[in-house]
Amino acid sequence: MTTATASKSNGRKRAPARKQDAQATKEPTAAIEHPTATVLIIGAGFAGLGAAIRLQQQGVRDIVILERAEEVGGTWRDNQYPGAACDIPSNLYSFSFAQNPDWSRSFSGSREILAYIQGMVKQFNLRQYIRFGKNVSDMAWDDQSGTWKATTDAGEVFSGRTAVMAQGPLSNASFPAISGLEDYQGHKIHSARWDHDYDFKGKKVAVIGTGASAIQIIPELVKEARHLTVFQRTPAWVMPRPDFETPDWNKSLFRKLPMSQSALRKALYLIHESMALAVIWNSPLTRLAERIGRWHLRTQVKDRWLRRQLMPDYRIGCKRILVSNDYYPALQQPNCKLITWPIDRLSAQGVRTVEGVEHQFDCIVFATGFDVSNAGTPFPVRGLEGRLLGETWQRGAQAYKSINVAGYPNLFFTFGPNSGPGHNSALVYMESQIDYIVQSVRAIQSLGLKALDVREQVQADYNRDIQQRLAKTNWNSGCKSWYLTKDGFNATMYPGFATQYANQMKELVLKDYRLIKAD
Ligand code: NAP
Repeated sequence: MTTATASKSNGRKRAPARKQDAQATKEPTAAIEHPTATVLIIGAGFAGLGAAIRLQQQGVRDIVILERAEEVGGTWRDNQYPGAACDIPSNLYSFSFAQNPDWSRSFSGSREILAYIQGMVKQFNLRQYIRFGKNVSDMAWDDQSGTWKATTDAGEVFSGRTAVMAQGPLSNASFPAISGLEDYQGHKIHSARWDHDYDFKGKKVAVIGTGASAIQIIPELVKEARHLTVFQRTPAWVMPRPDFETPDWNKSLFRKLPMSQSALRKALYLIHESMALAVIWNSPLTRLAERIGRWHLRTQVKDRWLRRQLMPDYRIGCKRILVSNDYYPALQQPNCKLITWPIDRLSAQGVRTVEGVEHQFDCIVFATGFDVSNAGTPFPVRGLEGRLLGETWQRGAQAYKSINVAGYPNLFFTFGPNSGPGHNSALVYMESQIDYIVQSVRAIQSLGLKALDVREQVQADYNRDIQQRLAKTNWNSGCKSWYLTKDGFNATMYPGFATQYANQMKELVLKDYRLIKAD
């Protein structure tokens, strides 16, 4: 899971859309314009906060972070469903510059990760930069002043000489395109917008989806609900999860000797790097990983028919690999049933499958993922001469090193196109993006630049290489996943080791950019 913050629909309290109201009544509104910051950051999740920390450490303190919600945390604030946890070990799923010796488990839960993020805000005194309840609805480059202007849905305008897009790729919960969605009269919950007030006890509940979120929710719901029905469209490869509590001696060792924690982090990093050989490319290690997956299924599921239903028919790594020790056991509880018939439609009472059976439920949980649109950003972004990013990216998002897009000067993406890892911690990638941003901001300042704009040809060459390399990966081996657009274009994943990615981000090569001096 990754960060997610400012965008259209987080289901939280937002400032009223004063601008739209005013337009409706045709009354002129005076836009509130704030002073120009050096860096404008959209989103106070891991990426936005991490960028603020590193900028601050390099002496850049004129920062404004716009956050649509009333709290920090991005995806870890939004994803609070029962069982929510990270499937990357906490010692690696944390910043190297803000290590936490007190992780309670090897794979910590979402509340603990959120507390870690809130702790960083306190430790690095970041609240001074954050403007909560600011839901950005438009971003535009003003070439005359050389600034980015972010307009909120309340009509406020915030500007920055540079801007960092840290709104998170998985910030818009997505209800599936199933017909009859509006007809269903029971309770609906999306995994990323959990309803903590709903009491599952004694209820007949359905879960639609068997992805990363679902396999964490199902083992918890089966303990609560009277009956749980799981609708699976595609089975996932599920691997064992080496999860255990951190003993107290371990925590005090990390506290007394931070180097020991750094050493563990390095070891975990290298172990995950080696997994790239199985996950990204089709190699003998891919076969080995599939054998482990089959062994896990065989040892946990005794019933042959259920095993057949749960056995993936695509290459491991093509979709996200899941890790769980309690998903298969949960499916075998007497009050749980797996349905693999495709869903035809929702009815007023429940779910109708294609063979004509209607399954009735008190509540349907949609663990159906996120809207990861081709156009990438949840609000319009206008670059030089008013060009729209949604149009620039119409045929799939592309960027230079995942971070800059030609024609959108001084704009930096975190988790931009083709920066997704399949085998290592997203935060490792994020740290190198953040350091690249800090370098760029410093260069803009020290060279007195109005604009730093990547050259179109450089970006095109970079992407040709990325797509050629992607063609040889497991992600492009034929299955359907949210990594690919509906036309099969992979604008999501990075086709290489995390080390390769980090190496390419080490140096800002100025000749790759058009440098426009300030007047
Ligand atoms: P997801 O991986 O996109 O899974 C969505 C599930 O819903 C899939 O099983 C999908 O089936 C199913 N689905 C979607 N539309 C459907 C429809 N119309 N009818 C029936 N089934 C439908 O979403 P997610 O589980 O929320 O995870 C999204 C991403 O979030 C993950 O890949 C991961 O990057 C991140 N995540 C991470 C963690 C973590 O532990 N770090 C935990 C949760 C999420 P198909 O497979 O057939 O499409």
